[in-house]
Amino acid sequence: MWFRRDLRLGDHPGLSHATREDRLTVPVFVIDPNLVRHSGAPRLAFMYRSLRSLDASMGGRLIVRHGDPHTVIAHLAAEVGADEVVVTRDYAPYGRRRDAAVAGSLAEQGVRLVGRDTPYAIAPGGVLKDDGTPYAVFTPFMRAWRRTGWPVPADDAQVRWLGADRWPSDGVPDDPQISCVLPPAGERAAHERWAEFVATALDGYDAQRDTPGVAGTSMMSPYLRWGQVHPRQLLHDLGDSRAHDVYRSELAWREFYAHVMFHKPDSARENLQQKMNVIQLDTDAAALGRFELWALGRTGYPIVDAGMRQLLATGWMHNRVRMIVASFLVKDLHLPWQWGARHFMRHLVDGDLASNQHGWQWSAGTGTDAAPYFRIFNPIAQSERFDGDGSYIRHWVPELAGLTNKAIHAPWKAAHPLPAGAAAPMVDHAVERTESLRRYQTAMGR
Ligand SMILES: Cc1cc2nc3c(=O)[nH]c(=O)nc-3n(C[C@H](O)[C@H](O)[C@H](O)COP(=O)(O)OP(=O)(O)OC[C@H]3O[C@@H](n4cnc5c(N)ncnc54)[C@H](O)[C@@H]3O)c2cc1C
Repeated sequence: MWFRRDLRLGDHPGLSHATREDRLTVPVFVIDPNLVRHSGAPRLAFMYRSLRSLDASMGGRLIVRHGDPHTVIAHLAAEVGADEVVVTRDYAPYGRRRDAAVAGSLAEQGVRLVGRDTPYAIAPGGVLKDDGTPYAVFTPFMRAWRRTGWPVPADDAQVRWLGADRWPSDGVPDDPQISCVLPPAGERAAHERWAEFVATALDGYDAQRDTPGVAGTSMMSPYLRWGQVHPRQLLHDLGDSRAHDVYRSELAWREFYAHVMFHKPDSARENLQQKMNVIQLDTDAAALGRFELWALGRTGYPIVDAGMRQLLATGWMHNRVRMIVASFLVKDLHLPWQWGARHFMRHLVDGDLASNQHGWQWSAGTGTDAAPYFRIFNPIAQSERFDGDGSYIRHWVPELAGLTNKAIHAPWKAAHPLPAGAAAPMVDHAVERTESLRRYQTAMGR
């Protein structure tokens, strides 16, 4: 059993397959230098902690090998005399290429690569329009996804492990240096977090999910990212109330973006809507300087700075604020969405190519949305609306903590002078909004 984005033992169809008829199962995880290179330190640290937890749950038998999976898996299969290597299918562009290569080298030695299950309720590509073409818009996709339905969680597999007690393991590396505080890792931590959310916040999710100053969302994203829980398990616990329905549709966004990337793998790097390629972007040295201020949380727009600092401090950011900071980078600073997406992938514990790149493309108006370029978030209005009492800003931008609820969203308008240490706004939103509309309209030929 080759584990990848499925670091759990419960509800695991791949594992059930591997252990069928009481077979002995050899668990392996490959630390692939190509993935390590592209993972930021927080996500890597979370992954290593997750691996230690998985290893403990199988009595220390996880074989960890470092290297290119293409050679590592073929060698290990020969070493242990496996007749098949079982995986949960990976649908990301790199994972698909890697698995095709591994399947080829295994086949040369008469070993099958067997894919079971996916990290999604419905496999990407499994929800199509009546004419067989993929959905390009979320709401019809979501309706069809719900109609299609998904299986209930599978029973736990009865596993007889044979692993690091018999063959050498390179071991899980030490955590890289990180300066943020991560959530607890592992399958048990995932279920504990879910139980807490169900008990305290799920029933109010529809009302609270947009308020970054309260713990109103599930924070399940890192666990979903690493498969410490399967979305099937969460969907199984949902009922018919409006709050539960809204939660279900948020999970559907995750499925939708995986589905879009499956059909359009190039959208990981390029605009999904190629007609937006002509939009004028700033990429010179001054633009780099503006990017740095954004990344450090020093834009002078308190809600933007709060979000960027939450990201650096915790490896996670509230969804509403992700949308605000992304809009700011693209529409107020006129920078390529790819710069922001890369920064997010470097710092997010839940960094997921499909959700991240398409979350960014949604904000940039280059993605799956129909008429989006008019959507320019006003960072002050967003802040007043979603952080009315300023509690989120006060937490993450302490130099503004002493300001009134009215002043805290745009301190330069009210407080003279600015509190010590506070940044002045780096741009004038009204001016940049006009500039952004001009650039988008030019690109659209209006
Ligand atoms: C610019 C941008 C970048 C993003 N990058 C990522 C990313 O790298 N990884 C990631 O998991 N999510 C990403 N998201 C989506 C969303 O912000 C996070 O999934 C969410 O904030 C995670 O917190 P939560 O678990 O408390 O969410 P909840 O509100 O509790 O939602 C439950 C689950 O639904 C899914 N979900 C919710 N909203 C979205 C969404 N808009 N798109 C896709 N899935 C969603 C997530 O799996 C989430 O864990 C991004 C959004 C934006 C706007």
